[in-house]
Amino acid sequence: MAKSLKCSELPFGISCVDTGLHRPELAACYLLEQDGMAGFIDTGVGNNVPGLMDLLKRKSIAPESVAYVMPTHVHLDHAGGAGRLMQELPNARLIMHPRGARHMIDPTRLCSGSMAVYGEERFKQIFGELVPVEADRVIEAADGYELDFNGRKLTFFDTPGHARHHYCIFDELSKGLFTGDTFGASYPALNTGRIPFIFPPTTPVLFDPGTWLVTLDRLMTLEPERIFLTHFGMQENVEVLVRLLKKAINDYVEIAKRYMDVDNPVGEIAGELMALSLNQLQAYNCGLGNKEIERLLAMDMDLNAQGLAHWLANR
Ligand SMILES: [Zn+2]
Repeated sequence: MAKSLKCSELPFGISCVDTGLHRPELAACYLLEQDGMAGFIDTGVGNNVPGLMDLLKRKSIAPESVAYVMPTHVHLDHAGGAGRLMQELPNARLIMHPRGARHMIDPTRLCSGSMAVYGEERFKQIFGELVPVEADRVIEAADGYELDFNGRKLTFFDTPGHARHHYCIFDELSKGLFTGDTFGASYPALNTGRIPFIFPPTTPVLFDPGTWLVTLDRLMTLEPERIFLTHFGMQENVEVLVRLLKKAINDYVEIAKRYMDVDNPVGEIAGELMALSLNQLQAYNCGLGNKEIERLLAMDMDLNAQGLAHWLANR
């Protein structure tokens, strides 16, 4: 029996599906419906694919009417389930960033890259097996690619910064952007203070802060009224979040640069990122104790530190 995934109905035929990765409200994917056509934006990991199929059944959506699967980038919390999901959806095409497509067709490198970050055992436990997608089912979406989603215009933008294989999707109907990781991560569990808490996932290995800031400015020219974050959920205070995210990217870079001459500074950087987060959250009166905040952010800050250390060593 598939684990039942929690799903919240948003306006404009959009559902936010909690993929249940690690804990509730950490990683979402989105189901988009337009007059009988359905599509997924991001997929979560392979292990939650049975849950997505169960969700379609609960919503009386035939697998045949899912026309597109659209992972924002190839990181596995976004695209890890794409191969398995495509096996279940006979009519679906997979839309990928041109730099990401080959990793879905042959996931060998993706697999070894992620194993290097997570270790083999944890990798298998979290992500399961990566299933390749047939090349003729893959569409490469270059910058500006427009998709007619049953009369609803979706535009794909190349959005480097978090990763070079990342696109964001602007949905004309909702004036919303499906942002993957490009507009940062902002967990509901930590948005309990007077200011929202948002941070840039600087996951290894393609973090590029200068480019990321340019990407954000470019996307803001679309004047999005809402953003759909993979981590986590729909947010409507876009201007505020982007301002905070840009500051956080700069803060992260400042922290990393202090360790320019240190060998393997991951532990130190992770400690500083956590201290920065704790200070901010307490200043925002989030109402949580430091232990609880540390529990919620430990994994992210460790990954972020790995990404910053990698950037520092290779820039
Ligand atoms: Zn990512």
